[in-house]
Amino acid sequence: MALKFSDLRTTVHNDWCPGCGDFGILNAVQMSLAEMNVDPSQAVVVSGIGCSGKFPHFVKTYGVHTLHGRALPFATGIKLSNPNLEVICEAGDGDSMGIGAGHFVNSGRRNVDMVYIVHDNEVYGLTKGQAAPTMKLGMKTKSLPMPNINQGINPIMLAIASGYTFVARGYSYDVRHLKDLIIKAIKHKGFAFLDVLQPCPTYNDVQTKEYWAGEGHLDPNGRMQPRTYKLEDSGYDGIVHTGSEDEVEKKVGQAVQKSFEFGDHTPLGVFYQNEFVPTYEDRLNGRMPTYRSMPPAKQEIARPDGTPLASIRKMLDEFRVI
Ligand code: SF4
Repeated sequence: MALKFSDLRTTVHNDWCPGCGDFGILNAVQMSLAEMNVDPSQAVVVSGIGCSGKFPHFVKTYGVHTLHGRALPFATGIKLSNPNLEVICEAGDGDSMGIGAGHFVNSGRRNVDMVYIVHDNEVYGLTKGQAAPTMKLGMKTKSLPMPNINQGINPIMLAIASGYTFVARGYSYDVRHLKDLIIKAIKHKGFAFLDVLQPCPTYNDVQTKEYWAGEGHLDPNGRMQPRTYKLEDSGYDGIVHTGSEDEVEKKVGQAVQKSFEFGDHTPLGVFYQNEFVPTYEDRLNGRMPTYRSMPPAKQEIARPDGTPLASIRKMLDEFRVI
């Protein structure tokens, strides 16, 4: 039976501020899962701490609201213990690029087949708007007493440098485009990272919905010029088609170059996609040929009387260095 958008809604009270960009991301995720007819009992949404951390409470799938900066290790563990699940990990910019930065970088090396959506509003919304790691140097929001003294991380470039095989950016007020990007990310064979521009109207009064729509950025005729544009409309192609070393080098290079465009001319869409890199699950299956057919989550771990089936002595024997 076809899944409806409303089938993925919960009745949990939502206390995000009115106008928060998180609502657009929530709608886009629910629309994507419905359009792909993903069985909710086979999907897991994982989050860290922050406004975005409340995400799993609002999506009617399995979900885990974990610790600050630790959403990725939880999500990775869930996916590897049962590779048949659809795993979507949600985090804020502070959660992912501050306390969780080490996990962010190392996830690129693994290429586990799942989706990571970062709610990027450049502030720590839940704790009253301190500068988050993605906030640009010198930016001053109403929540800061003085302009930001640190340089901002470029999440697109960091993802590409870390080896991510799908790197894209969406905008939370362009829900249909974001939904299409999430579907592409779910279909991607490998680790998909999606940086989402997510206005926080409560604490970030600089990068507002009006700012992205073009307020103060006028063409010679005085008309507002939107500050975002679609990569796919500009003739840009970030997809690796042959997997040759030359092609990969060229596509990585152009994606890094593109990642520096921000502000008045901010690209949305797929910066880079490479499906020629084996997933972590493929590599594991190479070592343990029964991994996919009998992953850890499907294995019996105890006898009916509760005694464990695993023999710690056997494992220790395997690890013995001779
Ligand atoms: Fe959204 Fe900002 Fe409110 Fe958090 S503080 S719910 S990010 S508007």
